[in-house]
Amino acid sequence: MLAVRPAVGGAEGLRGIPCRERRDTTERRASAVIDSGVSDLVVRGARCVATLDDQRREFADGWVAVRGGLIEAVGTGPAPAAQMTIDATDCLVTPGLVNTHHHLYQNLTRAWPGMTDQPLFGWLTSLYPLWAALDTESVHVSTWVGLAELALSGCTTSTDHLYVHPRGAGDLLGAQVAAARDLGVRFHPTRGSMSLSQKDGGLPPDDLVADDDEILTASEEAVARHHDRAWGAMTRVALAPCSPFSVTERLMVATAELAERLDVRLHTHFAENAEDDAFSLATFGCRPVDYLERTGWATPRTWVAHCVMPTDPEVRRLGAAGVGVAHCPSSNLILASGIAPVADLRAAGAPVGIGVDGSSSADSASMWLETRQAMLLAKLRSGPGVATARWALELATLGGACCLGREGELGVLAPGAVADLAVWSLTGPGYAGALADPIEAWLRCGPAAARDTIVGGIPIVREGHLVAATTLDEMLRAHRRLAARMQRLP
Ligand SMILES: [Zn+2]
Repeated sequence: MLAVRPAVGGAEGLRGIPCRERRDTTERRASAVIDSGVSDLVVRGARCVATLDDQRREFADGWVAVRGGLIEAVGTGPAPAAQMTIDATDCLVTPGLVNTHHHLYQNLTRAWPGMTDQPLFGWLTSLYPLWAALDTESVHVSTWVGLAELALSGCTTSTDHLYVHPRGAGDLLGAQVAAARDLGVRFHPTRGSMSLSQKDGGLPPDDLVADDDEILTASEEAVARHHDRAWGAMTRVALAPCSPFSVTERLMVATAELAERLDVRLHTHFAENAEDDAFSLATFGCRPVDYLERTGWATPRTWVAHCVMPTDPEVRRLGAAGVGVAHCPSSNLILASGIAPVADLRAAGAPVGIGVDGSSSADSASMWLETRQAMLLAKLRSGPGVATARWALELATLGGACCLGREGELGVLAPGAVADLAVWSLTGPGYAGALADPIEAWLRCGPAAARDTIVGGIPIVREGHLVAATTLDEMLRAHRRLAARMQRLP
């Protein structure tokens, strides 16, 4: 190992990073350090730095040093020198939150009256005709605005599941990637798809589905164009047939095989509510977990959204297979789908992250709010001692990183991990009296927005405002125009 400048105070080593990644990380870290004497950025003086490292270290009077887009060191006491310093007095510093399920375009149909009293299938069928108007402009603007909203809630990495690709609509995934790059949010878009229309027994209308082979070709092209395998990558692509009730079984099988060949991840909706279970039994003659297994999806390459309905034995099968779960608590509540068995899934070995889900089913896209909601629902289902604020923070950081296949790289403040941080102010009337435990205070009090959000060592939110505030104003004006057009309003 090359000479690395010793950090000041209680600096951490590489203990939070799985062995298979350590050599690469060490080399990157060393080469980044030998070129100058100071760090790029130091966030210092925090009331608490919650590292989420393998020992779950928490530092009072903590600091985080950043070099070359990666965490250089974490410690307590006097901070090292840096080219840029952010004072985090009275703040909690956490890893940036990781959003594992979303449909960003759905912020164009927020709180639309045609769907607000519907369960899942009615909600979908009322909205499909509106979404048929999607084009590259509306996808670009809705992605930008949606990622901006997430960044304001401390989210530094988001996935997206865009499964509506109207014929002739253009390169929608490319429009999404451009928006994320412009804003500076780490992005995991999925190439979504639908191939089973109403005439074939599926849910979506005929004009919103594509042929299986067209979808597979487009999926392979999306990976070739946008998927970055490098450590610290800003863009990675996964393959994501929308749901068992909107694609053919052949596409499920072929997509799993393609993901294996391309070495990318798999995502879909899964066991979301009782209708979903009934559809599976009626159409495939088996329950959703059986279907996942027979189509080749029961692997650690897969993370599924919702997973509300599995029985106890099915939870154990999912855990044994290493299938990840994007828990979407507000969406499951607003569609009255049910309460996902999150604590049981984790106990069975399934990685669980948090997803805000699309803005037409959860409407608010705040990762802080979903993290709190996950804590409250798990207390209700599994008991007050099971789901603490630290438990929920693990879901929103480490759990999300596992779902996206980036354990040790995202969701942790440890040397060599990406420098994605959220800084949360714990001041004001909402936190008065919350003196003893800054992490419980963060999630029990509030409501909270991030004071600062930092991605790859670059602040994109400062003092509660988007750094790209001027662009936000322009984007919001464009979004209003495009949303009105889609909702057929004046
Ligand atoms: Zn969804």
